[in-house]
Amino acid sequence: MTKTLIRPEVLAPAGTLEKLKTAIHYGADAVYIGGEAFGLRSRAGNFTYDEMREGVAFAKAHQAKVYVAANMVTHEGNAKGAGAFFRNLRDIGISAVIVSDPALIEICITDAPGLPVHLSTQASATNYETLNYWQAEGLERVVLAREVSMAEVAAMREKTSVEIEAFIHGAMCISYSGRCVLSNHMSKRDANRGGCSQSCRWKYDLFEAPTPATHQSLATGETVEPFSMSSVDMTMIEHIPDLIQNGVNSFKIEGRMKSIHYVSTVSNVYKAAVDSYMADPDNYVCKQEWIDELWKVSQRELSSGFYYGRPSENEQLFGARRKLPVYAFVGQVLAYDNSTQMATVQQRNAFSVGDEVEFYGPGFTHFEQTITAMEDEDGIAIERAPKAMMTVYLPVKQAVKPGDMIRKKK
Ligand code: SF4
Repeated sequence: MTKTLIRPEVLAPAGTLEKLKTAIHYGADAVYIGGEAFGLRSRAGNFTYDEMREGVAFAKAHQAKVYVAANMVTHEGNAKGAGAFFRNLRDIGISAVIVSDPALIEICITDAPGLPVHLSTQASATNYETLNYWQAEGLERVVLAREVSMAEVAAMREKTSVEIEAFIHGAMCISYSGRCVLSNHMSKRDANRGGCSQSCRWKYDLFEAPTPATHQSLATGETVEPFSMSSVDMTMIEHIPDLIQNGVNSFKIEGRMKSIHYVSTVSNVYKAAVDSYMADPDNYVCKQEWIDELWKVSQRELSSGFYYGRPSENEQLFGARRKLPVYAFVGQVLAYDNSTQMATVQQRNAFSVGDEVEFYGPGFTHFEQTITAMEDEDGIAIERAPKAMMTVYLPVKQAVKPGDMIRKKK
């Protein structure tokens, strides 16, 4: 029997209003943001109620949704004010809250009826009994732990009707989906209450006292990378059919701290892949240009995480095999004049006449060109755009649109 395929939403991170609009402009069906309370990203540019209103209005105008992460672990007394917070979110038009703490879930369900609740990945849901339990409690969706395999996703889908959200791209945690006190110990910042300082990604030496720290392997004497617990990142771009066939309703991209360069690129790629698969599942092919595109914004090596077997130490740790991106984000198109073929560009990083750049926009409208000339706001020819956010005018070899991005080969 042929399975009925459900189109999954592409769910992008949005640390700011600009990132929210960028993600939706580049194809995200939904975004997740943080509010000013109860979130797990205390430094991720959390939204005020006014910013949420503007974000929700923009999303609705583009048939997209906005979710709010409120997934902190609450200690005694921390949940004070949560009822009013959730009611405000509901009244603003937020589509759902992402919560892991049972106290906050209970408060949301009782104090803000009508606001759907999604179980956060912080709750580490890894089996169908857990999914059914939370569905019976009134939750609409469960975000799976990043540590589940594809076979487990398939088995869970068979036995539950609750919506399933799964991570498909971005950073992995070397601990068990954030259940970690390393950051608390190293920098007195609580990873479970929004303050993770990513201490696992620092470089460490491992040595036997009283031998001093060394970059020589104690076992072989060879020079080795400093000991690190930093995990490689995830990409599931080559496994879109598996995710859709196994009934994943929402494809979650990690990274509320990441740039508009990252958010636009990754949303663009997964939107293209999902559209392509849903249009013709039998003849679907994962395009090399999608993979190449993801590498342009990658900070670490990419892997499929735990989906196809538990990774070995060598597969999970990011170290000697680093493959860093060769592109830097340099500007965003504000306007284009068809008669003069000039683009108005907002500078985001320094670039110069003679640089080889790539323009891209929603739907893979990529092209490369050399910057042949540049003018400042007064129409004076300049050789370099050094000032952050300055406006410059460039001749472009083909039409561009507001919101298109420019990156430079390093
Ligand atoms: S310090 Fe590293 S392992 Fe711990 S929660 Fe943060 S990212 Fe995860």
